[in-house]
Amino acid sequence: MFDSEIKKELSTLFSEIKFDEPMSRHTTFKVGGPSDGFLKAGIREAVLAAEFCVKNNISYTIIGNGSNLLVSDKGIDGLVICVDSNMNGARAEGTRIYAEAGLRLSRLSELAASESLGGLEFAGGIPGNVGGAVYMNAGAYGGEIKDVLSEVTFWESGEILTKSAEELGLGYRESYFMHNDCIILSCVFNCIPRPENEIRADMAEFIRRRKEKQPLEYPSGGSYFKRPVGNFAGKLIQEAGLMGACVGGAEVSTKHAGFVINKGDATCCDILQLEELVRKTVAEKFGVELEREVRFVGRR
Ligand SMILES: Cc1cc2nc3c(=O)[nH]c(=O)nc-3n(C[C@H](O)[C@H](O)[C@H](O)COP(=O)(O)OP(=O)(O)OC[C@H]3O[C@@H](n4cnc5c(N)ncnc54)[C@H](O)[C@@H]3O)c2cc1C
Repeated sequence: MFDSEIKKELSTLFSEIKFDEPMSRHTTFKVGGPSDGFLKAGIREAVLAAEFCVKNNISYTIIGNGSNLLVSDKGIDGLVICVDSNMNGARAEGTRIYAEAGLRLSRLSELAASESLGGLEFAGGIPGNVGGAVYMNAGAYGGEIKDVLSEVTFWESGEILTKSAEELGLGYRESYFMHNDCIILSCVFNCIPRPENEIRADMAEFIRRRKEKQPLEYPSGGSYFKRPVGNFAGKLIQEAGLMGACVGGAEVSTKHAGFVINKGDATCCDILQLEELVRKTVAEKFGVELEREVRFVGRR
């Protein structure tokens, strides 16, 4: 909880700050208790807010569209800095696309398609923002951010730095940003010229496959577990007979066993208990340790 002095200072610096904001409003899982403070930030505000937090010994959490997040029912200590629609500029220059970190991936893919630039077809149906996608090295249908990313500009320890994609340790759901306290601010993507009709045909096909295979009608965080080496989490969970398994309002989807869905009134606690049941059962049956892909944040 912020004391009244900190609240006053934050309100003076950021007119749009919210206090005790339910995080269930900002995650696609639709779960999560209140954050002490919540700020939808532009580039300047994000940097200012992080530096204010460091100076005042307040913890802060960066989020994008909240599509890969599981937030504690007890909420989040300190300030949530949300990199979203206040930081979503983009432009194409030749084969390069410059995008701010709060730009939705669907809009990034749309821009690439309209400029006849290939390489981002895979990203159209991923419901995250550019910053979250770089952090996670998001991927689908044979493509991933690392294949098309050229460089990233970010804030780290009071400095604005730019690093090339090769310097960012990008791998399967892995990046430099998972191990260092940074705010991704903007990125440059290197695309390949491709006829717009071909790009749009691939994008439409990927969206069609998502709608057919994924339980998009329910709140979720996407694939709950990472892909174990040489296998698929969903396949193992299905073969373990866990499709439809429930704890409270959380359920292993009957449409795609790799998804945990919120049937309407799930809590974070329900989801974590269901995760435990799935992990234990899969480990006992197949000797495979599943690892969560969704990022847990907040009070324990
Ligand atoms: C229905 C559904 C389908 C999905 N399909 C896919 C898929 O096909 N492939 C895939 O890879 N993922 C998929 N996801 C997961 C998710 O959409 C991606 O991981 C996405 O890239 C997360 O972006 P976000 O903006 O929502 O990030 P968030 O969920 O808000 O954050 C994710 C992580 O990134 C960090 N972060 C976010 N923004 C920044 C920033 N600007 N600076 C520093 N750190 C930051 C956060 O601290 C957090 O640790 C899916 C999710 C859903 C709900």
